[in-house]
Amino acid sequence: MSPQLRLSSPVTDLSGIGPAKAQALAKLHITHVRDFLYTFPRRYDDFSTITPIDQLKPGQTSTIRGRVKSVKTSWGWRGRQRLLRIFVDIEDDTGILAVTWFNLRFLPKQLWQGRELFVAGKIEANEFQRKLSAAAAAKLPKFRLRSPVIEFITANLDQTHTGRITPVYPETYGVSSRFIRYQTKNLLPLIQAIPEYLPAPIRSRHKLLGIHQAVYEAHFPSSTEQLSVAQARLRFDELFFLQLAALVRRRDRRQKKAFKIPANKTTDNHFFSLLPFQLTGAQTEAIREIAGDLNRTIPMNRLLQGDVGSGKSVVALYAAYLALSAGYSVLYLAPTEVLARQQANSFTKFLGADKVALLISAIKTKAKKEIKHRLASPQSLCIVGTHALLQEDVLASRCALAIIDEQHRFGVAQRRTLQNINSGEKIPHLLSMTATPIPRTLNLTVYGDLDVSVLNELPPGRRLIKTNIVSPSERDDAIIHILQELHSGRQAYVVAPLVEESDKLQVKSAKQTYREMQHLFPDVAVGLLHGQMPSDEKESVLNNFNAGAIQLLVATAVIEVGIDVPNATIMIIEGAERFGLAQLHQFRGRVGRGVYQSYCYLFPTTEETTSSKRLQVLTETNDGFIIAEEDLKLRGPGEIYGLAQSGFGNLQVASLLDYATIKKARAEATTLLEEDPNLKNYPILRKKVEQKNLVTHFE
Ligand code: ADP
Ligand code: MG
Repeated sequence: MSPQLRLSSPVTDLSGIGPAKAQALAKLHITHVRDFLYTFPRRYDDFSTITPIDQLKPGQTSTIRGRVKSVKTSWGWRGRQRLLRIFVDIEDDTGILAVTWFNLRFLPKQLWQGRELFVAGKIEANEFQRKLSAAAAAKLPKFRLRSPVIEFITANLDQTHTGRITPVYPETYGVSSRFIRYQTKNLLPLIQAIPEYLPAPIRSRHKLLGIHQAVYEAHFPSSTEQLSVAQARLRFDELFFLQLAALVRRRDRRQKKAFKIPANKTTDNHFFSLLPFQLTGAQTEAIREIAGDLNRTIPMNRLLQGDVGSGKSVVALYAAYLALSAGYSVLYLAPTEVLARQQANSFTKFLGADKVALLISAIKTKAKKEIKHRLASPQSLCIVGTHALLQEDVLASRCALAIIDEQHRFGVAQRRTLQNINSGEKIPHLLSMTATPIPRTLNLTVYGDLDVSVLNELPPGRRLIKTNIVSPSERDDAIIHILQELHSGRQAYVVAPLVEESDKLQVKSAKQTYREMQHLFPDVAVGLLHGQMPSDEKESVLNNFNAGAIQLLVATAVIEVGIDVPNATIMIIEGAERFGLAQLHQFRGRVGRGVYQSYCYLFPTTEETTSSKRLQVLTETNDGFIIAEEDLKLRGPGEIYGLAQSGFGNLQVASLLDYATIKKARAEATTLLEEDPNLKNYPILRKKVEQKNLVTHFE
């Protein structure tokens, strides 16, 4: 290693790394020397015990220390490619082992007789024996290794690839794990240059390893035990930074000012008198909490969580109503155009047409101009729209409240834009809504800087939705039932995974299903809705379904969220196995919204997918919390909660589900910030928090 090398040197300063290699490494986010040390193994191969050849067992992963006894090579073909086969017998004092490699042209020259080496891999029976006579077979090695990891024994023996717990790194085209291992090994002396950034009391309270030892052991563990203590330290670090960043952001946000939105009895009573129903206890409680937040100049950051159908909209409506009554503007962000339209319609009913404006991409320039004009006047306005409204410069005018529906469907950047809207010095209060329940682990991390209101109660009179998995051979029964429901005046949805037919995927498309339904139910009004339709067509389909003029609506996942037609009682999902559980639960939530018994039919594509354990969960429970936990087990948090582009998606060692460590990290981060709010005494930590630029969920 060159003496000028530093942690901050670019990788091209290392011998053997030119521009092409550097480009490949950049894909793994390795651009500087430091990144080699901070790219931790994906997993480890335990090659640590060296097994004498006569004690090998097939199926076991072992390392053998031996000498080259003989080498044979032969050329053959694999398809159209020339193939070099290298057959090597390796012996130790107890026996002989057959080893084969393919295509490593440089290798035979290095395998001189008697050369000492390690090989490591999975032991197999040497099947060539079968073709030979018993006497001849007995002379052959009993076991073999195919394409094992190899390492020659040198004078100052220091194993990198075998005879140890071997790190396996993330790979990419042009960068092998072996290459990273080799580079990292050479850079180990530089670990000493990493400053210890964790305060000593924290380390000792949680018995955490020093950073030098932790990084060293994470790459080249001296034992399984050492590896696990090293990982404990690194896990803590990752979660600790996340918590520090989240807490700093929360504090910064709370130091900004928002418009104070007071409630009063008269306006409240007026609002409640408009509602066609009594609020549930949970809704009343959420409304009280929100009113409390809005009545302060500290910006609200509240998440309203409630299962599908729990009645979140009316709570949001109340918040919007308060802000408008106080003379401010409101932004309401919906994940789809369809939902934005529906919400704008229902808000108009309660708030009046002069108070509500719909702003989506499809709206004509002239209408947009008019909205801007209305915003410029002192009159207050609630703008309902999709992310398209974030591109419009309509945002800054006296906007006191931003509401974001189905928040996890928005990207980090979009949420950030919404939070950074400001009217002069003031920023809007923020109300986010989600139907996906949040396990307590995520509550402390991703949602760590939020206040949460939960609607844990459904409006009265709701019945459980009966859910059935229907195999392809049982469809007729389901179809008859659908027809009965339609004839008694109810409505139905059919969801399909794709818009158009696909050659590659054997699943039904919405268009195909649409034709099929028209054919099956000739006297029923069937409609089609998908995201690629022109906006006004979508609107007319939805209006017609709302009005009952369309009885059966075939749609893609566009209807996943929000659509609210209480007369619909049947939900059919084609290709059900292609959707995530939480998503299926959302689809199902489109029915069971009124007083009628509702049904959900899952139509898997094939008989095999019918027996899927995963889908079974839906027939067993209507409880979104249980379903989300199942989904979390199957898919991990990144996908479900839309965290892929956030700091939470980049955890290497830690897991967002590691509740114990998260709790510790949060407590320590809180204490540290109380002691030293600006981390003055911890410049490295401060730099880490800034430099990592972690995106916390609700930033
Ligand atoms: P979600 O939480 O899924 O967004 P919505 O707000 O769309 O649920 O409400 C679902 C349905 O329940 C709507 O038709 C709504 O009018 C109705 N609803 C909401 N609150 C109540 C209530 N307290 N009593 C009766 N019906 C209600
Ligand atoms: Mg909703």
